[in-house]
Amino acid sequence: MMDFHAHLDLFKDPADTIERLDKAGFYVLSVTTTPSAFLGTRRLAKGCRRIRTGLGLHPQVALERQSELGLFDRLLDETNYVGEIGLDGSNGFRDSLSTQQKVFRHILRSCTSKGGKVLSVHSRGASSLTLDMLAEHAESSHAILHWFSGRDRDLERAITDGHWFSVGRPMTTSRKQRERLSMIPRNRILLESDAPFAKFEGKFIHPLDTVEMISFLSKLWSTSEDETVGQLMDNVAHIGRYARRVNTVR
Ligand code: MN
Repeated sequence: MMDFHAHLDLFKDPADTIERLDKAGFYVLSVTTTPSAFLGTRRLAKGCRRIRTGLGLHPQVALERQSELGLFDRLLDETNYVGEIGLDGSNGFRDSLSTQQKVFRHILRSCTSKGGKVLSVHSRGASSLTLDMLAEHAESSHAILHWFSGRDRDLERAITDGHWFSVGRPMTTSRKQRERLSMIPRNRILLESDAPFAKFEGKFIHPLDTVEMISFLSKLWSTSEDETVGQLMDNVAHIGRYARRVNTVR
């Protein structure tokens, strides 16, 4: 199975978490929040074939870490995966939106100059602006919208624009949310935990818990659990092929 958005470097015991994921055969996108965390985070998963490390600059720290954009560019050839990046327009972060946009634009343009990357994108409280910027600056990249919570018309637009979605259990609680998840094409869905800080029903979510999404999606899609897993693994393979294509373009 998979976890396409986890912060492995922020776990209390990353080595133990990574060993368990590796043993379980999980495909993982291990995202980082700053460029200076990239090399150390990648080192944590050394030798784990299915764990990819993303080079990120989280919008919530864009103001303090914009000075690391030079480092971001220097590291960009090291990986075909970029994240966590994006915009955050929620309370407490709205004030830094103009800096966040500068940082996000720089990152998207750098990715385009390399022929495109697989992106894990945060868009809380800023979904339409995030979609605008992806449309303008990310034409050759492959965006996966992480924990997308935009309004219905933003969701419709994100689907029309061809974006993918990484989804987790906190997105399954209300009927409205389930309806929204059923709008997303099955061949564009990946699973995520956003661990170690994301919670579900009062408890911290572990990356291995993403398997609980299989029965949920099987009900939503009226598929058997085998079919659901097959679809999800096809989707992972698609991302892998895209990432390798980028490799050959470079
Ligand atoms: Mn995250």
